[in-house]
Amino acid sequence: MLANSLVELDRRHLIHPLSSYRGHEQVGVRVMRSAKGATLTDSEGHQLLDGFAGLWCVNAGYGHESIVEAAAEQMRRLPYATGYFDLGSEPAIRLAAEIADRAPGDLDHVFFTLGGSDAVDSTVRFIRYYNHARGTPQKDQFISLSQGFHGSSTVGAGLTALPGFHAGFGVPLDWQHKISSHYVYRNPVGSDPATIIDASVAELKAKVEEIGPDRVAAFYAEPIQGSGGVLVPPAGWMKAMADTCRELGILFVADEVITGFGRTGPLFASEEDGIVPDFITVAKGLTSGYAPLGAVLMADHVYQTIADGAGEALIGHGYTYSGHPVSAAVGLAVLKLYEGGLLDNGRKAGERLMAGLHGLSDHPLVGDVRGRGMLAAIELVTDKDAKTPLPAASEPSRRIFDRAYRNGLIIRAFGNGAIGFAPPLCCTTEEIDEMVARAGRVLDETLDDPDIRAVM
Ligand code: PMP
Repeated sequence: MLANSLVELDRRHLIHPLSSYRGHEQVGVRVMRSAKGATLTDSEGHQLLDGFAGLWCVNAGYGHESIVEAAAEQMRRLPYATGYFDLGSEPAIRLAAEIADRAPGDLDHVFFTLGGSDAVDSTVRFIRYYNHARGTPQKDQFISLSQGFHGSSTVGAGLTALPGFHAGFGVPLDWQHKISSHYVYRNPVGSDPATIIDASVAELKAKVEEIGPDRVAAFYAEPIQGSGGVLVPPAGWMKAMADTCRELGILFVADEVITGFGRTGPLFASEEDGIVPDFITVAKGLTSGYAPLGAVLMADHVYQTIADGAGEALIGHGYTYSGHPVSAAVGLAVLKLYEGGLLDNGRKAGERLMAGLHGLSDHPLVGDVRGRGMLAAIELVTDKDAKTPLPAASEPSRRIFDRAYRNGLIIRAFGNGAIGFAPPLCCTTEEIDEMVARAGRVLDETLDDPDIRAVM
């Protein structure tokens, strides 16, 4: 009764993110009711292993009382404090300091947002301001990668290179440019790491030359492209791109909204990549999804240039909820959990996950297995030699997600037939093994789909 009325209310009133409105009206909502550890329970009482940590965000897993207590305590004491008018709150200050302390190199300055999209937007504003401050305002062009995802605001969606985020929305904007992804499995230059790195470096240089060497402000990349299908670059790719940016005099932004906070192993994937970007954007794992929060980590040289350039003038960028005390208190509690064993557990669970997924590689549909830490994907094809994607008629995104759900597993089913995994870092060995076993059943059922059979 409750579920039915919720389904109806949802259908009439709630606009869902990233959904087909007409499609959603037909299928209706599945309401999540509660969760503990890595297991979700829906309103019908079905138990689901969350192989995607919500939306790659609940890195700590569900049901941590220490996080709940931190939020409740902060809400009681001081639910809100603005950062305007030179005011502030203890949790925001402490969290900024803790992050800066752990961030690579001189990324010493932290600007809080509500999530990833506004963190990306903020970097664009800061970079433009920086270039005005240093007398190079003509540097106002931005480059990102095909298959990249950088948010759902107009600016972020324009930096994003996924067709669904552009069509009908008037983006990309005319100062937003793209170069090819590294996409190892389907790279036209082949899969040799050094060749891919050289090709990306050459393409970035050519794009900068084409736009005008004194016009380009920054290059954006995710350490692992998430929404593009969990595309893992060859080792050394991020470093080569960061070095090239430095050589070309353009800023490098590592968008770690997904990879930050343990997803690939360490707190920041940039650590593993051996780079110090000029900016890192984070969100998701920063609070493990328990409260909305994102952040921009800014290198000291950028901060000093902006601060000197502005002098006594106000720098007109900030949100009502920049440094929200409750979200920041949650961030501090989550950080304690990461460092109290969750990062270690995530590393072990990640090895188990990758080994398990590699164990599926003999399945007739599995063309590629890729990942790092607790961020992975398998890409399905109907012909392994020709790497033929699943036919659109088999509706990979909807049907694979539904099969997984029926098998008690939440995964990300990408439109191209890739299946993404990003389980909570708290997963036990048994939970990881069970996720892989259920994914195996999803593959078998997909193989039985008449629309797949028809082309094999
Ligand atoms: N950047 C990246 C790399 C992301 O994956 C996302 C969200 N999936 C965003 C930015 C946008 O974050 P949000 O949805 O919190 O606005």
